[in-house]
Amino acid sequence: MFNSLSDRLTSTFKNLRGKGRLSEADVDATVREIRRALLDADVAVPVVREFTAHVKERALGEEVSGALNPGQQVVKIVNDELVNILGGETRRIKLAKNPPTVIMLAGLQGAGKTTLAGKLSKWFKGQGHSPLLVAADLQRPNAVTQLQVNGQRAGVPVFAPHPGVQSEFDSVTGDPVAVARDGIAEARQKLYDVVIVDTAGRLGVDAEMMQQAADIRAAINPDEVLFVIDAMIGQDAVNTAQAFNEGVNFTGVVLSKLDGDARGGAALSVASVTGKPVMFASTGENLDDFEIFHPDRMANRILDMGDILTLIEQAEKSWDKGEAERMAQKFADQEDFTLDDFLAQMQQIRKMGSMKKMLMMMPGAANMRQQLENFDEREIDRVEAIVRSMTPHERVAPKILNGSRRARIAKGSGVHVSEVNGLLERFGQAQKMMKKMAQGGGIPGMPGVAG
Ligand code: GDP
Repeated sequence: MFNSLSDRLTSTFKNLRGKGRLSEADVDATVREIRRALLDADVAVPVVREFTAHVKERALGEEVSGALNPGQQVVKIVNDELVNILGGETRRIKLAKNPPTVIMLAGLQGAGKTTLAGKLSKWFKGQGHSPLLVAADLQRPNAVTQLQVNGQRAGVPVFAPHPGVQSEFDSVTGDPVAVARDGIAEARQKLYDVVIVDTAGRLGVDAEMMQQAADIRAAINPDEVLFVIDAMIGQDAVNTAQAFNEGVNFTGVVLSKLDGDARGGAALSVASVTGKPVMFASTGENLDDFEIFHPDRMANRILDMGDILTLIEQAEKSWDKGEAERMAQKFADQEDFTLDDFLAQMQQIRKMGSMKKMLMMMPGAANMRQQLENFDEREIDRVEAIVRSMTPHERVAPKILNGSRRARIAKGSGVHVSEVNGLLERFGQAQKMMKKMAQGGGIPGMPGVAG
């Protein structure tokens, strides 16, 4: 996401690297480059204007002229300003004092509302809430079924006009306002504490749709109205967002399809233009492809300073506690790190989701983008095949592997002997790192994975 913007901005800063002083001409040239990069990324013109004006003013000011490393200071300023246009502080869902918390989704057809409804419900469920999905999109023929499928995947019930959940509130009217209202009543009665209401969109902004959304809003009085916008739609994003802001007065923005290679700048403008914060990012078609949006972390990612915090959170989400405790115990006992451990850790990493997505969050990822694009997720399968072709003794003490055993293992696992050698080398590095950590009392990290 935002790859080309990220590449452009980081290469702009290269010219400033190591400069002891920045002349006005340096600042002008940099600001000009930033302006071009933002415009080419589809960031809305007024947003670009304000952004560059702020950067220029600050870059010519004392915080830069007095800085030890003016180039880095400019990067910091751009980072701050990016955080600003993305909405400043991370904004979380406001939970109602008296449950249920009601969340309404609004946006154009195809924006990703129904998908998001499933993601949000799963996320809430994972936090111990008991959510209910309400299918008030009666426009698109498939929307109700699609929500039911998502609900099933998330393990969350769906309130739908018939033939949905049977209840005394079951609407058969085909009136989305009534469905929404009945859904809330159902949640009250059955003590669901979060209600997520999916609503209908149209292909473009249209008065009838907006009226319907406004009517639903008025009927259910939601705690949050999330406006879902497809990051791929380009310059139209700003107008669409403004129309929805006037029509339903949303409280937060969700950027969807951030996994695509859209230029994304228009989506970046939405918060700034509407004054409403971006709260979530949707990054794929699976229910887990979903993140809380942190403006500061996103700015870091765009400026290729990495997003270690999100990386760690993703890791925690899927980390196998038993396995982690086993490793920790090994550390405490100062036992040797073996190839079996190495394999177990690689499998853990695979469980965290796409390796590529993860590595993209590392600082400096922009420089490795090409290699990352080529990264083959099947690498872990090959590692597994190689390790499985070794005897238990060899896995503990791979130093004993001579040339002919390596050749046999390569043959047995269907790889070239150079891959066996490469794996053993990486394992050696990981083992060293682990030893250091154990001595230093650190936490087990990730083994060296081939790029
Ligand atoms: P709605 O009309 O707003 O309810 O949109 P949907 O939820 O039906 O999404 C429209 C299409 O976009 C579907 O094919 C989804 O699978 C897809 N989609 C939704 N969110 C994402 C996302 O974050 N990334 C990608 N790649 N596809 C998405």
